[in-house]
Amino acid sequence: MAEEEAHAAHNYHPLPVVVASGDGAWVTDVDGKRYLDCLAAYSAVNFGHSNPVLLDAARAQLGRITLTSRAFHNDQLGPFVTELAALAGKDMVLPMNTGAEAVESGIKVARAWGYRVKGVAPAQANIIVMAGNFHGRTTTIISFSDDADARDDFGPYTPGFRIVPYGDVAAIEAAIDENTVAVLLEPIQGEAGIVVPPADFLPAVRELTTRRNVLFIADEIQSGLGRTGATFACDLVGVVPDLYLLGKALGGGIVPVSAVVGNADVLGVLAPGQHGSTFGGNPLAASVGIAVVRMLATGEMQERARALGDHLHSALTRLIGSGVVAVRGAGLWAGIDIDPALASGRAVCEALMERGVLAKDTHGSTIRLAPPLVVSQEDLDWAVAQLAAVLEDF
Ligand code: PLP
Repeated sequence: MAEEEAHAAHNYHPLPVVVASGDGAWVTDVDGKRYLDCLAAYSAVNFGHSNPVLLDAARAQLGRITLTSRAFHNDQLGPFVTELAALAGKDMVLPMNTGAEAVESGIKVARAWGYRVKGVAPAQANIIVMAGNFHGRTTTIISFSDDADARDDFGPYTPGFRIVPYGDVAAIEAAIDENTVAVLLEPIQGEAGIVVPPADFLPAVRELTTRRNVLFIADEIQSGLGRTGATFACDLVGVVPDLYLLGKALGGGIVPVSAVVGNADVLGVLAPGQHGSTFGGNPLAASVGIAVVRMLATGEMQERARALGDHLHSALTRLIGSGVVAVRGAGLWAGIDIDPALASGRAVCEALMERGVLAKDTHGSTIRLAPPLVVSQEDLDWAVAQLAAVLEDF
């Protein structure tokens, strides 16, 4: 911790725990103390720490080849993009590494589609985004953030974005003009505090964007790949966007893997030389990605998240009035608003840590729980009991 304090940039404020190993839903610190991981690296570890199937895939590939660049083909990328496209019900995959890169790539694809297919006037494309969004940390992405911490002093900002209230389809319609190429949104807003929009919102966005010839881009980097009890959060309301942005769990918590997934009429706008990434689609990432997609293809993880999520949400709802003001979420993903008069989210997370539960606060008095989907019901019950005890202690 002292070394990080002295030599790592101070762009995070971690809880004072130093993790040395992990297995399933549990991690162990350098002193041997065990903690239930209720953050799962912001949903990048959906399938658990040291998942044996994913580790086997990575180990096998480590011994063969790890990087070719896309100057050549490798024997893992083809199967990966084929199986991921099939999982999403789309034609094509653009492989990248981090979530922010997938978002940037989706923005570029949407703009190119606007100019080349829709016929938008040169350099006039606009994209409609939501208040409270979180899509990553690059200069373009923070240009359309409304979070002062994320944005202040990082300008000048990239133009071409319009922010409307989340959940308000009339506001989106009012913001659309002939130069609008896309609506970009999180189907459930993660960093904002697990904010679930009204049930008719995403279907209405789908209807509107289809009618106005605008792409619907769903950032499922945090909400996708099983977390909400479905493969995609969009599935929960029967909606299919034009582009899925995926990341985090796609790399199984082992390597950074992200992707833009869509049909050839949109993703097909990219031609050689117009976009790329040295590491995007590398064979190590692709081999882990294949194992992740195969795990999701059985539906078992989604079913676990749905059933355990129902259990978690009813347990958490019982805490309303005992230090909890509201609970939101879907599947194994919960945003819990703590009574601000009682304690800050940070103080609750520090007390939870003392009791062996790792969770993360967001926006002052909210904490979120997103344990690995392999967590057991007994462990979940234990975590909720720790939260109840912490709230009683304040
Ligand atoms: N989009 C969403 C919805 C996210 O939650 C995140 C990360 O939290 C990102 C994009 C950015 O991903 P990364 O940190 O891998 O760049």
